[in-house]
Amino acid sequence: MNLLLHVCCGPCSIYPLSRLRQQHIEVTGYFYNPNIHPYREFRRRLASLRDFAEEMAFQVEIETEYGLTEYLRQVVFHEKERCPICYAMRMEKTAEQAVKIGADAFSTTLLYSRYQNHEAIIRIGKTMAEKHGIGFHYEDFREGWQEGIDKSIGMDLYRQPYCGCIYSEQERYDKKLQKKLRKEHKQQKAT
Ligand code: SF4
Repeated sequence: MNLLLHVCCGPCSIYPLSRLRQQHIEVTGYFYNPNIHPYREFRRRLASLRDFAEEMAFQVEIETEYGLTEYLRQVVFHEKERCPICYAMRMEKTAEQAVKIGADAFSTTLLYSRYQNHEAIIRIGKTMAEKHGIGFHYEDFREGWQEGIDKSIGMDLYRQPYCGCIYSEQERYDKKLQKKLRKEHKQQKAT
């Protein structure tokens, strides 16, 4: 199989790439992440991915355009539902690119993260696959979570401290906001 793998960064690509290669799947990477802010963080993650790709002889197509405006236009006024919007933006473009290059299917390293909404990623991946007439390749890459972390440390790759968008950056560092979100989460669970 010839697969186009959406890659969000270097560290998250380690385990999925290794697992797919073990199955003799021909993998090409595709970096399209308009959700990564601010600009210096975007550049840093991209540089880390490039180092990883070179070391692993991993061919990656890179969309270098910084997508702050495009991303914000889609999520403003929908901040609470921003993650599914963000997954859809990235997977739709990946599905389109997969069709363009004649791949058999596409997938995403988002399926590696324990912190993402795994079920939403599957649902949106399938929707985009159907919409664009291409296969969505699903694997639960979370199984290699620790292996990926250990290897990324061993390779001295830059590991990002927050998911990507400016909202997630605030959630990571703003203690007051963390408290508020925990409270909201507890209330939601109780209802
Ligand atoms: S938290 Fe992560 S997945 Fe959710 S919108 Fe922000 S960058 Fe996208």
